[in-house]
Amino acid sequence: MTPISKKIGIIGAGQLGRMMAMAGYPLGQKFAFCGNNNDEPSAMLGQMFIEKDCAIESLVDFADVITYESENTCVEQVREITKTVPVFPAEKSLFISQHRGREKILFGQLDIPCAPYQLVNSLDDLKKAVEEIGLPAILKTTTEGYDGKGQFVIKKTSQIALAWQKIGNRELILEGFIKFSRELSIIAVRNAENEHVYYPLVHNIHDDGILRYTIAPAQQIIDSVQETAEIYMQKLLDELNHVGVLALELFETDSGLIANEIAPRVHNSGHWTMEGAETSQFENHIRAITGMPLGSTKPKQEIAAMVNIIGTTGDINAVLSLPNTYLHLYDKEERAGRKLGHINLLADSAEDLFATLAKLEQFLPK
Ligand code: AMP
Repeated sequence: MTPISKKIGIIGAGQLGRMMAMAGYPLGQKFAFCGNNNDEPSAMLGQMFIEKDCAIESLVDFADVITYESENTCVEQVREITKTVPVFPAEKSLFISQHRGREKILFGQLDIPCAPYQLVNSLDDLKKAVEEIGLPAILKTTTEGYDGKGQFVIKKTSQIALAWQKIGNRELILEGFIKFSRELSIIAVRNAENEHVYYPLVHNIHDDGILRYTIAPAQQIIDSVQETAEIYMQKLLDELNHVGVLALELFETDSGLIANEIAPRVHNSGHWTMEGAETSQFENHIRAITGMPLGSTKPKQEIAAMVNIIGTTGDINAVLSLPNTYLHLYDKEERAGRKLGHINLLADSAEDLFATLAKLEQFLPK
């Protein structure tokens, strides 16, 4: 039998790499990272190649398979690496998810509902797009937006010029403003043998564009809505020939689910799975990219939550004293807006979960 142990190279060395490695070691895998410096969250978890001319070459020499932490990983670099070592998820997933326009075209091709949109390359384009789509609308950069950065909500026509001035002079996309009741996401995993697994839809609560906490599974989701989300995911996974974790962010509206964006990587809204599901998203990603069978996505308890620790670490002793509560720190320096860790909590009822959440008030948005 071929040995299971594989050498996995990760492009990036942040908390996602760290958690992938922590999930992969019990499976007998080995890890190396290509990062910026030896202080990054993954640095002590495997061999570290520091970003300079030959770091990627060293990672390729080391690895049997390569994955990445960020959807902003260079597509050309991935194409080049693939000539020597397989990279999962492959180039197509990366290429599409790097551009909001390409994502929307794909949603359209696969009959996945999304916001009405227009690509915008000038102030004139923007004026025409506003006429077409109406207001309010949300203007976004087509690439490199994250945590709500590079966005402008246009509420009245008098704001059009300001919006262009603030984030324009590059390619933008204007999207109709969706009146949603909740922001949801679903995480799915596919391996090269075309096995698919899906985690339950979760409810994500953001503040100032940053994910603050997740409730998993999202409450009051009827079976047909979960099924619809899984159908959307299956279409995306198959069309992209995706191997690894894929996350899809959705808006819940009166007329059903509306897709917002995809991420071809382990996702912050899936961190609850570390203790909350029979197999975590990190382990399933590693299983998928190394050709192992996928694990059960079943939640371990009735309900779970994931609370991000942002900016300052806070009183973590208060966390450590709570039952069914699990602290994950990423070994990062405190800085405003920075994700420093997260707390997972499990409960047998929503009532118990919210009672524990209330004790974590210091980590929740005001
Ligand atoms: P994004 O970077 O696309 O995830 O957007 C950041 C946040 O802006 C989302 O989490 C939503 O709260 C909000 N948002 C994005 N697109 C829309 C939209 N078309 N309609 C309403 N709100 C949106």
